[in-house]
Amino acid sequence: MSAAPRKRAAKPEERRGRATRPEAASPKAPAKKRAAKKPTAKPRELFDCAKCPAFCCSIYEVVAVTDRDLRRLAAHHDLGLRAAEKRFTRKSGDDRVLRRKKDALLGSTCRFLDAETRRCTIYESRPTVCRGYPGQTRCAYYDVVRFERNVQEDESVVPLIQIRFPKR
Ligand code: SF4
Ligand code: SF4
Repeated sequence: MSAAPRKRAAKPEERRGRATRPEAASPKAPAKKRAAKKPTAKPRELFDCAKCPAFCCSIYEVVAVTDRDLRRLAAHHDLGLRAAEKRFTRKSGDDRVLRRKKDALLGSTCRFLDAETRRCTIYESRPTVCRGYPGQTRCAYYDVVRFERNVQEDESVVPLIQIRFPKR
């Protein structure tokens, strides 16, 4: 049986333009004060979620919910932890993940995606993995949808994208 696609933000080392931890000063380093570096500007994102049917909320069947995420979800809905866990999550192996629902456009999607607007209905309280996605300046799904809409000269086109894992 193949694993369900998981929503996963890029690892920090995969992210571009991210400041790295400064190395410890060598004892032989000159005592001269170094000029303070200006903070690195946030790299410009080359995707626009407002012009995407929310592939990332649909393709990934596994969106992990940490204990902190569950507390956020519960507070957002003014529910207790157990009630929020039962209503909004399910088990996937050993993981607690968001429940899903049918979706006319992409087959199935996260229960919190608005089917019409294609926007997250709990944006301020979305799980950690959603906050970090895609973790890069580009989003491959956005690139695909842009490419296809340009080729078709039709802004309503939605390419159907799936992820399959080869058998191990
Ligand atoms: S698939 Fe990419 S562009 Fe589309 S909503 Fe997700 S992050 Fe945004
Ligand atoms: S919680 Fe929001 S951002 Fe995360 S998968 Fe669901 S709809 Fe998308």
